[in-house]
Amino acid sequence: MKFQSLTKKHIQLLKDILSPERVSSGQSNLDLHSIDQSHHPPSRPDAVLWPINAQEVSDILAFASQENIPVTAWGSGSSLEGNPIPVFKGLVLDFTYMNRILQIREKDFQADVEPGVIYQRLNTRLKHTGLFFAPDPGAHATIGGIIANNAGGIRSVRYGSARQNVLQIKVVLANGEQITAGSRSLKTSSGYDLLDLFVGSEGTLGLITEATVRLRGLPERSVAAIVSFPSVKMAAKAVFDIIRSGLEPAALELMDTNCIRLINREDSIGINESPSLFIEFYGVAKAQLEQEMDMVREISRHAGTNGFVSGIGDRDRNALLKARYELGEKIRRSHPGRTHIVLDVAVPISSFPKTVSFAKQESSVTDIPFYIFGHAGSGNLHLVLMGKTDDPTEWAAIDRINESIVEMAIRQGGTATGEHGVGIGKKKFMFTEHGTGLKWMHNIKKLLDPQGILNPGKIFPLSK
Ligand SMILES: Cc1cc2nc3c(=O)[nH]c(=O)nc-3n(C[C@H](O)[C@H](O)[C@H](O)COP(=O)(O)OP(=O)(O)OC[C@H]3O[C@@H](n4cnc5c(N)ncnc54)[C@H](O)[C@@H]3O)c2cc1C
Repeated sequence: MKFQSLTKKHIQLLKDILSPERVSSGQSNLDLHSIDQSHHPPSRPDAVLWPINAQEVSDILAFASQENIPVTAWGSGSSLEGNPIPVFKGLVLDFTYMNRILQIREKDFQADVEPGVIYQRLNTRLKHTGLFFAPDPGAHATIGGIIANNAGGIRSVRYGSARQNVLQIKVVLANGEQITAGSRSLKTSSGYDLLDLFVGSEGTLGLITEATVRLRGLPERSVAAIVSFPSVKMAAKAVFDIIRSGLEPAALELMDTNCIRLINREDSIGINESPSLFIEFYGVAKAQLEQEMDMVREISRHAGTNGFVSGIGDRDRNALLKARYELGEKIRRSHPGRTHIVLDVAVPISSFPKTVSFAKQESSVTDIPFYIFGHAGSGNLHLVLMGKTDDPTEWAAIDRINESIVEMAIRQGGTATGEHGVGIGKKKFMFTEHGTGLKWMHNIKKLLDPQGILNPGKIFPLSK
C-alpha cells in the first residue's frame, strides 16, 4: 500500500480543521499511541488528533482521503492483537474528548453515547436506574473500541458480546460521508444489516461517532459458586455438561491451577488449588436460584468435582471477580523479563473440553510458563504464554503453539478470535477460517474505503 507521508503543511491544515492544541506530533504523544496491550511491536503515527464532534471526524477523513493519508482510530489502546497500532503511520484519531453520555432512555433500556465513553463510567452513571451495559472486557475500554472489536467479557455467556448490545451507530466513512446504521427498535427486517458490518470491523470500514447501546436490568438477586476439579479436562467437560443441561449462567469462567495459584498468592483468597470454575446465576426468586445451584452441584458431582463452595457472599465474589479481571496484569507482573501473548479462540461448546485439553498438551511440551482460562460458557478459551522477551527460539515455539491451537479451533467449526479481534496477530488465519468469503470481505472493504486509508495493515493477510 502506498500512502503519502505527512508534511508540515498537512499538520498546519489539520490544525486549521481542529484547533492547534488538539493536533500533536510530540514524541510522547506519538509513543503513547504506538502500542496497545499486546506483544506486537510498536509503530508510531505521524500525528495524533483529538476530535470533539462528528463534523470534525468527517472533515479529517475527507482531508485524509484527498491526501491519501492513513487514519487509525484510538479508544483507550487496551486491545490485545495490535488492533489500534498505526502500522502504516499517518494519523491516529483519539476519541478521548468525544466522551459524552448524551441521553439515557430508561423506559427503552437504551443510552446514546459518544465513542470515547469508558464503559465503567457509563455503568456508574446508570446505577440509580437499575440498568447496566453488559459487555465487560475488564480493561479501561471505550464504547467505540468495544463495538469496533466486538468485545465480550465475563457476562457474554448470558448477554452476548458488543453485537448483541448495540442498536444503532453513527459512522463517518472514509470519504467523510456520515451515515446511520441500525435502528432503535429491538427488531428490524429492514434491508441489509449495515450495523453488523461495522461491529467488529476494527475501524477499517468507518469511524463510529455515536452509539445507541442496549441496557439490561441489574439482577435482583445472584448466587455464585467455585467448583474445583482434579484436571482442567474434567473442569472443561463440566462446562459442557452445565450448558447442555439448559442452565443459563450469568458467568461461567474457567481457570487452571496456575491461575488459581497466582490469585491465591496475590489476593489471599484461599481457593482450592486445582482447575476451577466460577459460576454465577442471576434471578428474581431465591428458590429458583437455589434450584439452579443444586443442579450445578449435581452435574459437578457427576463430573468428578473435588471441591464445591457455593453461597459465596458479595464481598468474596467481588474479590474473586476483581482478581479474575486483574489476572492478565498479575501474570505479567510475576514474570519479569518475559512478554505475554494472549491467545483467544472460540469453539462450539461440545468441542470446548477437547480444545482445552489440546491447548494444555501443546503448551506443556516447552518450559514456557502458561496459564489457561476463559469465558468457558461461551466456548471461549484464552491461553497466556510468557516468552523470554529476547529469545527467538521461545517465540518460534510460541508461534507454533499459537498456530496449532488456532487451526485446531477452526477445524472444530470455531473461530480464530472469540472477542479480541483480528488486528495484526490473527491475519494469517483469515483464509483458513473464511476461505473465499475473505475475498468478499475484501470487496466490501474496497467499496467502503477504496484507498484503504482506514486502519491499514489489519484483518487482511496480504495487508503488510
Ligand atoms: C487486562 C485486559 C483484559 C481484557 N479482557 C477482555 C475481555 O475479557 N474480553 C474482551 O473482549 N476483550 C478484553 N480485552 C481487550 C480490550 O480491552 C477490548 O478489545 C476493548 O474493546 C478495546 O477497547 P479500547 O477502547 O481500548 O479500544 P482500542 O484498543 O483503542 O481500539 C480497538 C479497535 O477499535 C478501533 N476503534 C476505536 N475507536 C473506534 C471508533 N470510534 N470507531 C471505529 N473504530 C474504533 C481501533 O482502531 C482498534 O482497531 C482485555 C484487555 C486487557 C488489557
